[in-house]
Amino acid sequence: MSILVVGTVAFDSIETPRGSAERVLGGSASYFAVAASFFSPVQIVGVIGEDFPKEYLDLFSRRGINLEGIKREKGETFYWRGRYHEDLNVRDTKELHLNVLSGFVPRLPESYKEAEYIFLGNIDPTMQMEVLNQLRKIRLVACDTMDHWIQGSGHELRKVLGRIEILVINDSEARLLSGEHNIVRAARSILKMGPKVVLIKRGEYGVLQFSDSSIFATPAYPLEEVFDPTGAGDSFAGGFLGYLARTGDHSQRGLRRAIVYGSVVASFTVEDFGLKRLTTLSLEEIEERYQRFVELTDFHT
Ligand code: AMP
Repeated sequence: MSILVVGTVAFDSIETPRGSAERVLGGSASYFAVAASFFSPVQIVGVIGEDFPKEYLDLFSRRGINLEGIKREKGETFYWRGRYHEDLNVRDTKELHLNVLSGFVPRLPESYKEAEYIFLGNIDPTMQMEVLNQLRKIRLVACDTMDHWIQGSGHELRKVLGRIEILVINDSEARLLSGEHNIVRAARSILKMGPKVVLIKRGEYGVLQFSDSSIFATPAYPLEEVFDPTGAGDSFAGGFLGYLARTGDHSQRGLRRAIVYGSVVASFTVEDFGLKRLTTLSLEEIEERYQRFVELTDFHT
């Protein structure tokens, strides 16, 4: 089953304690699309500027990602510069230029309007809503957001939350959105805003899943070295939704497996800068690490 994603397609400049990278391919939609493409066909909706190189479009095409919904506009591509602290769970946004993204109105190609699995990646909630309103056969909608939109477009975001099944969000953003410091209380409060499931990403500490009837916790895959955490959240979401769309199994068991696949893909993303590691990754490597993950968390046998 194919997945539609809307989000940013970006140039990122990144500094981490391990090094830096200038103007590499990034953006919430880029990470999500490449991660999900290991499991399901992906259709991407986004905007790029005149400065966006063909080389990056080719990278998407090689992963079989449908680019009909990418619009090239006059101006520069969305640009983000971030710096990570020694504690990689903490990062500062040093620069954020919306550029061609400001005022972008997503118009879906006809061939996208039948999409059933949808990921509303981190982008202006007004654009997330525009996309939802053009879809005819929605089966499952997952959504991400960040502090920038929670603080600046809270009202619009609340409307989106009323129309989705799954919210994928960082712990600090869950606190900001709910006004609750305790993460369990934060999740409970977000569940009241609309989503049936809340997935709280806690960086190197893993993911917590909350629904009305269950809580599930997984660690992050332990790595000796993390080069660049950028895109871990979006890659997690891509692996997660990609696997769900492939199996169609939305049961608690299916969701839990999807969470582990998402965590596995994210663990590869952070092994190198930007999208580099994902471009050399194979499904065999994903399956192998999935098995290691099963062993890592097995305390029952
Ligand atoms: P993640 O590390 O998964 O939270 O996502 C990082 C990606 O988000 C980077 O590649 C950035 O280009 C992108 N990004 C940063 N700020 C924003 C924003 N305000 N809206 C949308 N995308 C953003």
